Order: sequence, then structure tokens, then C-alpha cells
Amino acid sequence: VNGYDVVIIGSGPGGYVAAIRAGQLGFRAAVVEKDELGGVCLNRGCIPTKSIIACTELYGEIQRASDFGIAVSEAKLDLAAIVDRKDQIVKKLSDGVGFLLKKHKVDVVRGVGWLPAPDRVEITEGPAKGTMMEACNVIIATGSRPATIPSVDMDGKRILNSTEILDLREIPKALLIVGAGYIGMEFACIFNALGTQVTVVELLPQILPNTDADISNALHKISEKRGVVFHTNSKVKGIEASEKGVTARVAGEEGSTEIKADYALISTGRRCNSADLGLETYAVKMDGEAIQVDDRMRTSLRGVYAIGDVTGKIQLAHVASAQGIVAVEDIGGYPSRMSYRAVPSCIFTHPEVAGVGLTEAEARDQVEDVSIGRFPYSSSGKAMGARHTDGFVKVIADSETNEVLGVHVLGHNASEVIAEATVAVQMEATVEDLVRVIHTHPTLHEAVKEAAEDVLGLSVHKG
Ligand SMILES: Cc1cc2nc3c(=O)[nH]c(=O)nc-3n(C[C@H](O)[C@H](O)[C@H](O)COP(=O)(O)OP(=O)(O)OC[C@H]3O[C@@H](n4cnc5c(N)ncnc54)[C@H](O)[C@@H]3O)c2cc1C
Repeated sequence: VNGYDVVIIGSGPGGYVAAIRAGQLGFRAAVVEKDELGGVCLNRGCIPTKSIIACTELYGEIQRASDFGIAVSEAKLDLAAIVDRKDQIVKKLSDGVGFLLKKHKVDVVRGVGWLPAPDRVEITEGPAKGTMMEACNVIIATGSRPATIPSVDMDGKRILNSTEILDLREIPKALLIVGAGYIGMEFACIFNALGTQVTVVELLPQILPNTDADISNALHKISEKRGVVFHTNSKVKGIEASEKGVTARVAGEEGSTEIKADYALISTGRRCNSADLGLETYAVKMDGEAIQVDDRMRTSLRGVYAIGDVTGKIQLAHVASAQGIVAVEDIGGYPSRMSYRAVPSCIFTHPEVAGVGLTEAEARDQVEDVSIGRFPYSSSGKAMGARHTDGFVKVIADSETNEVLGVHVLGHNASEVIAEATVAVQMEATVEDLVRVIHTHPTLHEAVKEAAEDVLGLSVHKG
């Protein structure tokens, strides 16, 4: 039996980051992984999707090159080559995680882990089968997997989940997407850019249901203009798959419709990987499938922590990593605590969506009176030069104190523009703080300053 200060089950952005911090703090640490290093994020999530999106964005730029005075002959798409490129990037990054773990003297144990006792991790399957590790602390970082719909047989051939669609090597003529959360909407934009006829079915009235309604409605309109068809307030009753394609029965506000496509993507959320770890034996407190944790990432079982998607908090890679750091630092006796006040979320659609802090609806719920400032990308010189004028920045503030409660961005590079707003929300900055910061000209993030100025009725460049 090998003895460790900490054994981490799962090497996603929660697990591997926790493992590296454990190494940095001088712990004897091991990470258990049944698949490739890097978890969903690196192998089947953030990185592969963004690698493909980089291709579709470049394709879009080439198509409008003549607007910039550049004549190019026809650009041809090769989805197989795009997928190969994605695979190379994923492999390089996964190898990089292995290198970092080795550098920090973390043992990588290959196989399926579980807890036969609260201070033991055993490998039941895989190359290290039979290995038993003694652990002063265990961190569960087992992540999540795609949810399914009970009425739909996910055959993996025509009816796909977000993992399977990443390896599609032919561009479908028509694609049905069930679920307009961020995963569904990113794939909607990818395939729309590839020339596929995309139809999105969403149960709720709003696409991107957790996003500020103004932003989500604007993205809805932009995507519709680009040819994406939406059925909101609609429920998929069943999907039949044949050799050639799929037929879905959809019940909506205007009765039932049939939607035909070459493939269907089911993107209706993600389920926590909390079963088969032995947790029920110790009556670990759960919220459904999610493992309950406190702000130090401790579960109800002494010495056992949980981080990342399996905690069901906010299922994003950077949240998993932040939780991993808190867990390890707590083990080391540091006063680290997890706060979810200023978690930025970015959706890599065309154009991008990013937000931090409260949405307008949440702010109106929590605060007596709110003030809103807006600044359109169409008034930004930088956006005009690059012809990326769709979108706007919205700043939400407490009218009494002028504290910045939330910032939401729809537009080119929103995922980068949101960075300063995240600092502002984290530092409990006021609108005046944001306005007083000197912003580089010409940049897209000047739009954040202008939107903050607009809260005060003082935007200089708003038309
Ligand atoms: C298509 C898609 C796109 C996404 N895009 C983004 C994005 O742009 N930005 C963002 O922030 N987030 C994104 N996400 C979400 C992000 O991938 C997750 O939030 C993140 O991966 C969660 O990290 P984690 O460490 O909790 O778990 P995971 O990444 O799920 O990793 C868990 C690991 O544990 C392993 N494991 C599970 N059980 C065991 C066991 N018993 N023994 C051994 N190993 C085990 C698994 O094999 C896996 O490698 C995306 C997700 C998807 C599906």
C-alpha cells in the first residue's frame, strides 16, 4: 500500500490543477485517471470546441475578405482536416498536463478509482488494477457526462452527444440541436458557419437560459439572421433514426411539428459522475447526484473533498480549477475559501457572449433600484475597423451605491473584454472606479468604460 497526503480521483481542470498545487506545496500526491489526462475540458469540451471555432471564424473572415479590399479565390472547407487539427492540439495539451504532473512529482495512476474506505483509494479497472493507495485526504474530481433524454435512443451514429459530434468528419446538410444552453449554441454557430441548416429546439422561452435576457435575445436575432431556425417553448417528444438521418417530433406553442435532419445533437445538460465511488456507504451528503460541499470544498465525510462539475455548482473549467486550489490549500492549512460572486462565463458563439455578476433580472430581484448603462459595438472605432459591429456591453449597477453588480457583453472577443469587469465585480468596484481607469485606445474594452459612463449618463462616444 502506497501512502499519500492526497489522492485525487479525476484529472480534469479540477483534478490536475489541484494535483499541481499539491506538488507545489510539497505534498505526496497522486492523481487517478481512467481516460486521457485533462478530463472533459481538454479532450471533449473547451479545447476541442474552441479549436474548431478558430477554424470556422477564420473561414468567416476569408469569406468577407473582399470587404477589406483583399481578393481571395474560393475557400474550401475540409472538416476531416479540421478534426485532425483539433486532435493534434488536444494531444499536445494532454501530454503537457502529463509533463506538468511529472515536474511537480505527482504520481499518475491509470484506472478507475473508488473509496473502499474513507482513507483508501483502490483501482478496480485499467492498467493499475488492484493498486491500493492510503490517503490522508481524497479529492473527488470525477466531473460530469452528457445527459440523455429518456424518450430518445442515443445511437451514437445519427443521434449524438457533444463528445460524438466532435468527431463528425462530414459536414451535415441539416442538423437538429436539442437544448439551447451554451454547448448547443456553440455547436449551432459552428455548423451554421460550415453551411449546415441548423434547427435548435429549446424547452424554455429563452435560448441560453442563464444569460442576461437582453444579451440572449440579441444573440437569438443575430443567429436567426444567419439562418439558424429556433423552436423555443418546444419539447422533443421523440426522435427516429434511420441509416440516412433523423426525424423528430416536436410539440411547441403552435402544435406539433416534424423536423428532419441528417443528425441530431442532444445537448440538454450534464450529469454528475458521483456513482460507483462508494460514497453511499458513508452516507456522504448529496444534492441529488451532486456531492454537497462547503466553501472549503469539504464533503460531509472527514478528509474527503469534492471539486468541479461533480459538485454541481457552476459547471465550468475555471470554477473546477479554482475549487481545486481551495481544496488543496485547505488541506495545507491555508485560509482559502470558495466564492462564486465573480465567476465569469463565456460562450464562444458568433459573436461571443460573456458575463460576470448578476443579470438584470437577478439584480432587480436583489437590489432596491438598479441603473443600466449600454454601449453598442457599432460605436466602437476598433470594432468598426475590424467590421465586428454586432453586439453591445451592458453594465448593471446599484443605483444607490453605484456598485457594479454585473457586466454582460455580446460581441467580438467578449471572452477577453469581460476580464476587467471580472476584476471590477470581484473588487466590489463602483461605476466611477471603472470610468476613472484609463483604457487603451483603440480597443474593444473601451466599450466597458463607455457603458459604465452611460450608467451616469456620461458616455462620450454613444450616438
Ligand atoms: C462541449 C463542451 C464545451 C465546453 N466548453 C467550455 C468552455 O469553453 N469553458 C469552460 O469553462 N467550460 C467548458 N466546458 C465545461 C468543462 O469542460 C467542465 O466544466 C470541466 O471539464 C469540469 O472539470 P472537472 O475537473 O470537474 O471534470 P472533468 O473535466 O469532467 O474530468 C473528470 C475526469 O475524471 C475522470 N474520472 C471520472 N470518474 C473516474 C474514476 N472513478 N476513476 C478515475 N477517473 C475518473 C474522467 O475520465 C475525467 O477525465 C465544456 C464542456 C463541454 C462538454
